[in-house]
Amino acid sequence: MSACRICGGAIARTLDVREMMFGTRERFAYELCGDCGCLQIAEVPRDVARHYPADYYSFAQRPPAGLKRLRRRLKRRPILAAPALIAAALKRAFPRDALLHLYRDIGITVHDRILDVGTGSGEHVVALRDAGITGAVGLDPFVPHDIMDGDRVLVHRRDLADMTGEFDLVTFHHALEHVPDQVASLAQARARLAPQGRVLVRVPCVSSWAFEHYGVDWVNLDAPRHCCLHSHESIRRAAARAGLEVERLWCDANAMSIMGSEQYRRDIPLTDPRSFARTKSGSIFSAAERAAFERQAAALNRELRGDWICVLLRAAP
Ligand SMILES: [Zn+2]
Repeated sequence: MSACRICGGAIARTLDVREMMFGTRERFAYELCGDCGCLQIAEVPRDVARHYPADYYSFAQRPPAGLKRLRRRLKRRPILAAPALIAAALKRAFPRDALLHLYRDIGITVHDRILDVGTGSGEHVVALRDAGITGAVGLDPFVPHDIMDGDRVLVHRRDLADMTGEFDLVTFHHALEHVPDQVASLAQARARLAPQGRVLVRVPCVSSWAFEHYGVDWVNLDAPRHCCLHSHESIRRAAARAGLEVERLWCDANAMSIMGSEQYRRDIPLTDPRSFARTKSGSIFSAAERAAFERQAAALNRELRGDWICVLLRAAP
């Protein structure tokens, strides 16, 4: 690559990054733009599919039904509509549904239509429907076929460019970083927006303590699967080129970023039997260390130095 794909700026620095999720330790060049600060893979490998093993998604999993689904609906249904105190209690009781509270925070109601891009087997769309957002649907070009939820499509096997319809919110939850052409995907999302519609992007971010501290061992680099790691400035510029502007930007990283990076420094892959992602008792981190990493991640988020960002975008005037 001779120039930044986001802003056309000159490359300031090249990084030599190892594949460490599965620990193949193959090396890939990444380039840091001296202008917008974006970090991108120099060349997307032609055989990148090889780096996504068959079980990367729990492909074509059927959504739960019957009593199991009913129980989930009962705990999820009040999240968007309940008074703030009850919603806060639900968030503490069911931390796994934290993402649904994010929708509440940005003003989403059960009447909104949501398109989740790169949704995989659609577990997140199931959660949205359980919360009462019946107009939620997902798409993913890499699932083997459309996935159904009863008699309705849950996940379309389709490219975003081929999607039709109008949505109040288009979401990319840790999906956009896998896409080589960031601006095209954001423009395709914008084309699907209803008037006043918005795009929510959650991605890893290099404007962060974790990237600056760990460099090539930063777990969220995730070579070669992540094509593009944005800075606060580069996501703003990519959005602007797609006719979007930033309404709000905040951080939602957790201790996983720090633990994973600490492991990579010690040459321990994410899927290693000693990895925190595989074991608690066999992990190299004690419970006290894990708790300290959680506190550190929360503090970094508050300072806008976390390495996962949420960016809420709206159509530019
Ligand atoms: Zn740039």
